[in-house]
Amino acid sequence: MKAPMRSPFLTWQGVIEHYGDRLPVTEATPVVTLLEGATPLTPAASLSERLGGTRVFLKMEGMNPTCSFKDRGMSVALSKAVENGAKAVICASTGNTSASAAAYAARAGIACAVLVPQGEIAFGKAAQAVIHQAALLSIEGSFDQALELVRAVSESYPIALVNSLNPHRIEGQKTAAFEICDQLGRPPDCHALPVGNAGNIVAYWKGYREYRRDGVIDFLPKMLGFQAAKAAPIVDGAPVEKPETVASAIKIGNPASWKRAVRARDESGGLIEKVTDRQILEAYRLLAGEEGVFVEPASAISVAGVLQLGKRGFFSPDEIVVCVLTGHGLKDPERAVQESREPKVVPAKIDAVVKEIFST
Ligand SMILES: *Cc1c(COP(=O)(O)O)cnc(C)c1O
Repeated sequence: MKAPMRSPFLTWQGVIEHYGDRLPVTEATPVVTLLEGATPLTPAASLSERLGGTRVFLKMEGMNPTCSFKDRGMSVALSKAVENGAKAVICASTGNTSASAAAYAARAGIACAVLVPQGEIAFGKAAQAVIHQAALLSIEGSFDQALELVRAVSESYPIALVNSLNPHRIEGQKTAAFEICDQLGRPPDCHALPVGNAGNIVAYWKGYREYRRDGVIDFLPKMLGFQAAKAAPIVDGAPVEKPETVASAIKIGNPASWKRAVRARDESGGLIEKVTDRQILEAYRLLAGEEGVFVEPASAISVAGVLQLGKRGFFSPDEIVVCVLTGHGLKDPERAVQESREPKVVPAKIDAVVKEIFST
């Protein structure tokens, strides 16, 4: 008999199983996983052309189990919470953290409470939190206020905090840097991503540095972070009282990992810049229309930022740029409809259908 085929798709068991020797887990850690990670690194031909040949790859983090990168960190955070005896977890969220926490808490069989800014969470993300049975509390305040509240609650009650202030979140999220190097067979020259609460830029930088320290890679990428123009505290150098942007996942005025994000930027020789909502939405439509990739607006800022830098001649043609696409487009379907043409109403007649097809 022939040996059964061993495919990486069939054997992948999640980030803890694959990268466990680089994570704060032991044999005794109960692994809470939905088999997150191993997301595609997709070449982006149209973007490469726009940049004059620089090779661009898209790290498709929306293809994680709850459709955002938050799952990597949540697997480690929930595993450690269960190991430490937690019966409940809590987080503040612009949406994706709550979706992920709710799913992983359900998987672990423990309770989950999420605090979101009222009226600001995208439709798909709210749906995820409630269907996974989380207690979803809509706070009359901003994300930053919600984060203050969950910090205070977790300090006074036996409820584990699973925001990216929790170091296990960062540990899990750094696995995406390992994957990119493993997929490319080398590090990228530049690594572009959105910056909201700033945990992810810190996580990637930690991942790259650990691979460099252990000789798995022999140089480090420049970290290129992007904030929305009216929610850009790190670029402006001061907290933003009332952040505004269509990119709800990064609508944050006072990032928890601010200092460490600045360190990642400076140590890597990179930058953190701002991009307007108009540019974000242009990149959002471009990704969907030219690359066939549907992301949520916050994710499109990676590409908007790279295009902005490309116009200044920032990249050379022999470079590799990775844009992290942090969350799936179906998280925020209302935005997609708003940004598109309305479907045309046509009589149920072949003549009418053909006429419309050829008139556009
Ligand atoms: C959480 C999130 C971000 C921002 O990540 P930070 O670690 O807060 O900087 C960006 N995009 C999406 C889709 C997210 O869910």
